[in-house]
Amino acid sequence: MACSKFEYVKHFENHTTLLRNTWIVVRLDGHSFHRFTSQHNFLKPNDPRALHLASFAAQKCMEEFEEIVLAYGQSDEFSFLLRRSASLYKRREAKITSTLCSLFTSNYVFYWNKFFGPETRGEKDVIIPGQTLEPQELLYPPSFDARAYNTAFWALVQDKDTPHSEQKAQAILKDTDSAAKNELLFSKYHINYNTLPEMYKKGSTLFRKPTVVTEVSSRDGREVQRTRNLIITEHRDIIGDPFWKGNPQILQ
Ligand code: ATP
Ligand code: ATP
Ligand code: MG
Ligand code: MG
Ligand code: MG
Ligand code: MG
Ligand code: MG
Repeated sequence: MACSKFEYVKHFENHTTLLRNTWIVVRLDGHSFHRFTSQHNFLKPNDPRALHLASFAAQKCMEEFEEIVLAYGQSDEFSFLLRRSASLYKRREAKITSTLCSLFTSNYVFYWNKFFGPETRGEKDVIIPGQTLEPQELLYPPSFDARAYNTAFWALVQDKDTPHSEQKAQAILKDTDSAAKNELLFSKYHINYNTLPEMYKKGSTLFRKPTVVTEVSSRDGREVQRTRNLIITEHRDIIGDPFWKGNPQILQ
């Protein structure tokens, strides 16, 4: 349609431009994943294949969009932090949210078999030790919604859509300290919280980090050391200072 006589319809488009010089958080959330996860026999509460698949899709989004400095995911959601100076699509909200949501979703579907297909059986970083997961075919196309937040960075760590049953659970848990919670998990569910994988407890954080790598030179075949801005995945606390002090490059 560009440069055609129908270009005039663009005048009727609605543009919301995200405030300049502020961090942008785009948060994606699986649509009806309560149903999707049960129909696809996800291991509850954390299916490691699904968490790895979502991280992989997020990594593809970061490879495509340089201005994403950090991505954080847990459950059926992933949040992307775009640098303060980001100029992606001239900061047009609809372009940014729809493109990221579409790219994430298509990667989630495209790489489904890499994580849920038969060839992943027995892969030690994907399967919980001692647990055999049957391959799972994708039964229907999943979708995600996307929203942009650019006034509050804290949207990243808050969940505004806590369902009612979670509220009830929170009411039960709110007066217990962490020792009491651990005791409850252990006595009722035989789960030792301390030995659970960090990925379940802290979610997945992807960010760029200058890293020295050894590469083979295409010119003379010799090994050379180069610094590359690699996308790193960690499962650790990102609320406290140590993460941010250790990675000042993220907010630069
Ligand atoms: P943007 O990311 O801004 O949308 P774009 O390159 O996708 O950039 P569009 O204005 O959306 O630009 O143009 C879509 C392009 O795809 C045009 O070149 C158009 O001719 C081509 N195209 C769209 N639909 C078809 C189709 N069904 N068959 C062949 N070509 C198509
Ligand atoms: P909505 O469309 O409003 O987002 P929803 O059913 O997706 O509805 P959420 O609040 O987003 O509701 O909850 C996500 C659901 O998906 C929960 O039931 C959660 O237990 C499940 N879920 C998400 N990720 C995983 C996972 N990796 N392993 C197992 N279950 C998961
Ligand atoms: Mg286009
Ligand atoms: Mg077009
Ligand atoms: Mg939701
Ligand atoms: Mg959801
Ligand atoms: Mg959710």
